[in-house]
Amino acid sequence: MRATIMFGAGDVRILNVPDAQIKEPTDALVRITYACICGSDLWPYRGYDSFPDNGLPMGHEALGVVEAIGSDVHHIKVGDLVAMPFAFSDGTCPHCQAGIHTSCVHGGFFHGNHDTGAAQAEAIRIPYADGTLVALPRDNAPDIMASLLTLTDVMATGHHAAVTSRVAPGKTVAVVGDGAVGLCGVIAAKRLGAEQIIIMGRHETRIALAKEFGATDVVSERGDEAVEHVRRLTAGLGVHSVLECVGTDDSMQTSLRIARPGGAIGRVGVPHNVNIPAASPTFFRNLTISGGPAPVRAYIEDLIPDVLEGRIQPGRVFDRRISLDDIAEGYRAMDDREAIKVMVTP
Ligand SMILES: [Zn+2]
Repeated sequence: MRATIMFGAGDVRILNVPDAQIKEPTDALVRITYACICGSDLWPYRGYDSFPDNGLPMGHEALGVVEAIGSDVHHIKVGDLVAMPFAFSDGTCPHCQAGIHTSCVHGGFFHGNHDTGAAQAEAIRIPYADGTLVALPRDNAPDIMASLLTLTDVMATGHHAAVTSRVAPGKTVAVVGDGAVGLCGVIAAKRLGAEQIIIMGRHETRIALAKEFGATDVVSERGDEAVEHVRRLTAGLGVHSVLECVGTDDSMQTSLRIARPGGAIGRVGVPHNVNIPAASPTFFRNLTISGGPAPVRAYIEDLIPDVLEGRIQPGRVFDRRISLDDIAEGYRAMDDREAIKVMVTP
């Protein structure tokens, strides 16, 4: 089967690899129907991560159809349309029961995983299928399928940023980052009742989409000027909740400075060379720094009805669709910020 393997910065290839197959009785074999490229896939693409000799299997967000199941799979059935969160989890251990499925004691990640394969491919092996997969209603319109696809990562990740930064009705919120996760963070903040939603970014088409999703204010400056602008917009107080959707030192510094005393920062941008800075100022302002890899599996079932009934349309972040064979062009388009998010069909 064809699969996407990254061998180094900017070096993404489609290879023929052994077909995905069932190995454990709790596995499912899923034929991928929709996958996509994630902003986090750009970290290795830009050379921030190291590469094993056999490369990194890429892709961790997909919808697909179950083609086979192991003998110990009881809830997921052959023929089901399923969503696969970016992490697998058994659904039964103490961490899963606490809603932190990304820390499942039997869990793991599909990104870079040669044992399971990854999602920018024709098929994938899903461990703990009953715990990991979510069966979806079939025969959805294309825009609904696109929105369901975002629930496997970016929409659930934006939601996690909103939940961990304690967004609630009437609150003032800033979303740092205008990528697909930041845009989904705007949707999540609005969905949870935020009164003021400040999007921090400068890319025209992304900002326009953020406004349609519910952003009330735009801050396009950076650094000190951005902090000043947020203070002006919040009567000098800062925001209750910061959704940190980038993961750089600069974005974290900005997040800490725009939060009001007692406020919270939900980090979902994968940190790169980031030490949480400003230990003393954050201590004296009683800031909560929370967040991490989104436990997609904990949220996905709550978000599905909003997608199916059209209350949220996170699938609008997809502004380019390519076939698997053109994956390298998809990475280039996202790296050049030509595309917000690229959908991939095998
Ligand atoms: Zn678990």
